[in-house]
Amino acid sequence: MKRYDLRSDTITLQTPQMREAMYRAEVGDDVYGEDKTVNRLEAMARELTGKEESLFVSSGCMGNLLSLMIYGGRGNEVLCANESHIIQHEIGAVSAIANTIPIIVPSVNGIIDETKLESFIRPYSYDMGKSAMIEVENTTSGLIYPIEKMKAIKEIAERHNMKVHLDGARIFNAVVESGIELSEYAKYCDDITFCLSKGLGCPVGSMLSGDKEFIHLAKRYRKMLGGGMRQIGYLAAAGIYALENHVERLKEDHENCKLIRDAVASTSWARVLTYGTNILFFTSDSYDISKIVKKFNDDGVMVLCECNACRVVTNIGISQKDAQEIANYIKSFDPESING
Ligand SMILES: *Cc1c(COP(=O)(O)O)cnc(C)c1O
Repeated sequence: MKRYDLRSDTITLQTPQMREAMYRAEVGDDVYGEDKTVNRLEAMARELTGKEESLFVSSGCMGNLLSLMIYGGRGNEVLCANESHIIQHEIGAVSAIANTIPIIVPSVNGIIDETKLESFIRPYSYDMGKSAMIEVENTTSGLIYPIEKMKAIKEIAERHNMKVHLDGARIFNAVVESGIELSEYAKYCDDITFCLSKGLGCPVGSMLSGDKEFIHLAKRYRKMLGGGMRQIGYLAAAGIYALENHVERLKEDHENCKLIRDAVASTSWARVLTYGTNILFFTSDSYDISKIVKKFNDDGVMVLCECNACRVVTNIGISQKDAQEIANYIKSFDPESING
């Protein structure tokens, strides 16, 4: 059987057209602000988000970190969901580097319960951390944040003089699925980061956007962290190509994910846990899911086992025909074979 890589949308390889755009990029020293391609990409991100300024950063982690350094900081607290990337997958940089205190608030599948939020916001006191910011993640493991929730969270934040950081690593998946523009989502946060290197299919990079003062500081801290890079127009060219050509096609990833979800739901041995846009989590009540994941991988359907669940992420490397073949494989999968 052919190999299908569904472990993540970060494994995506660059298309020949994207490589061509990278090859042809006009470059310069970006630390001096002289890389025209980077400047063009930053202007595009500014336009798309409706924020005053944008900055190319090396990764989504760095985008989150810069926001935490600027809006959080020593003695200051960030309210976030336990499922969020800054809690689960950034090695504690939130406190280890940004000196910010994470406060976990009630959430369902990574989506904050805004009705419970206010009880976690502290009044001013000489001996308490300051409630400085709220972190929202959209999509969160593929699930789209309802825009009304984002609006409600922003209103709460404003009432308490707090900032909202939007980790929009996969925000374009939410944009194409919901039909809500990026600039609309961006209204309900002070700063936003999105990844170029996931579903959009670039090799490297994220964009961080916010007001002038925020991006001015972000640029300084980026340099401090070793993220001031030179002729990165090659990477920015991939970003421009992706924003122009790879956003709409995310819908295909969503359709493919749905096809696989339906196949999983039709079996007697598997149970869908969460599903949204391009990410599916499922488990099994009757079989060891880690063994099932291992068998899938042995058979060429590469998936991850995370928190006692199988994680499937569709991406640009998976065609509709591939998705159909994967769905057929799942439908005919014999769970007893994991013991063989
Ligand atoms: C992937 C991801 C990040 C981090 O992106 P990197 O570019 O891998 O550092 C941050 N937040 C979320 C929600 C992500 O999925």
